[in-house]
Amino acid sequence: MLNERMVGLGTQRSVIRELFEYGKMRAAEVGAENVFDFSIGNPSVPSPEIVNATAKKLIDELDPVVLHGYTSAQGDAGVRQMLIDSINKRFVVNYNKDNLYMTVGAAAALCCCLNGLCNPGDEVIVFAPYFPEYKVFIEGAGAVCKVIKADTKAFQIDFEELEKNITPKTKAVIVNSPNNPSGVVYSEETIKKLSALLEDKSNKRGEPIYLIADEPYREIAFNGVNVPYLPKYYKDSIVCYSWSKSLSLPGERMGYVLVPDQVTDSKMVYAAVAGAGRSLGYVNAPGLFQRVCAMCANETADISIYETNKNLLMKGLTSMGYSVVEPGGTFYMFPRTLDEDDIAFCEAAKKHDLLIVPGTGFGCPSHARISYCVPTERIERSLSAFEALAKEYL
Ligand code: PLP
Repeated sequence: MLNERMVGLGTQRSVIRELFEYGKMRAAEVGAENVFDFSIGNPSVPSPEIVNATAKKLIDELDPVVLHGYTSAQGDAGVRQMLIDSINKRFVVNYNKDNLYMTVGAAAALCCCLNGLCNPGDEVIVFAPYFPEYKVFIEGAGAVCKVIKADTKAFQIDFEELEKNITPKTKAVIVNSPNNPSGVVYSEETIKKLSALLEDKSNKRGEPIYLIADEPYREIAFNGVNVPYLPKYYKDSIVCYSWSKSLSLPGERMGYVLVPDQVTDSKMVYAAVAGAGRSLGYVNAPGLFQRVCAMCANETADISIYETNKNLLMKGLTSMGYSVVEPGGTFYMFPRTLDEDDIAFCEAAKKHDLLIVPGTGFGCPSHARISYCVPTERIERSLSAFEALAKEYL
């Protein structure tokens, strides 16, 4: 008898992957230029040249035994020092390299945190709309995923709902800002309110509720919007970061967990994160790209195209009658669907070769996600398809 849960996860592709595969099939039938695939969050801009130049230099110059060797489980010490120097400078904090644990992208960072923190039956809170893999990761850690229903007006936090859902079993809350799928950045006011609530609840029960900041989109923030850095607002914050989006390196699988000293029992928490990494068999994050990311820590890909795309879509969609909360970052937006049934609406969109993802999978029905990490000309050409779709409903 196999592990049924794993068989299920391995056989059922996610709705996003399903749509992405459908897009490839349609492209073979009608030509890629005729399919408006907004399904997946694969960055559309290349990594900056310095990434490849750094990788080449390391390949040419580093001792091959070191280059291809294991690193320390928590990541190469020199790499962690370079990264902490950059983090300290950027956020005006004073961490040290032993606060940092290098991981195989944000996905592994989250899994290490969740497995390190949770005991069976603990609860982890996420806010709808949420990244669907959270549920997989939380349940994989033996915990229960509790979804707080969306504040569909602004995609900030519905505090009444949150307060109702905090129980003695709440171990952690995951915050993802800038957010996938809404694109919204949580305001400083939201973060202050959240911190005050969690602090109050933690104090009353004498045990911390951890705040996990999932930050793969931190750099993709539009028009200079401030993305609050959670450890500055809440003591028991743990940061999960990734270079998948900022440096357009999703295939290289690089990220980190940051456990500041201010976190309650921080050394134990760090040990639990490292223990989870060991138990999950990660061994160490990819050695070459640990070094590349450390050496390119202050760079980003040319992410300005995402803001251009966002502006084009916002203007186009709102003029057609779609209702959209304006994203403050990322390369996603999450309009209300013109049919209450988002799944039916996304099926109707497919008839125009418009591939958008139903909100139901993000815990927020009657919406759909548009991933606009695509060439701008695809956005321009897609507008007539969005318009034709709208005309079926309005
Ligand atoms: N968290 C969020 C909100 C994401 O959107 C993603 C990827 O799309 C991840 C985590 C995982 O990122 P990574 O590629 O670094 O594992």
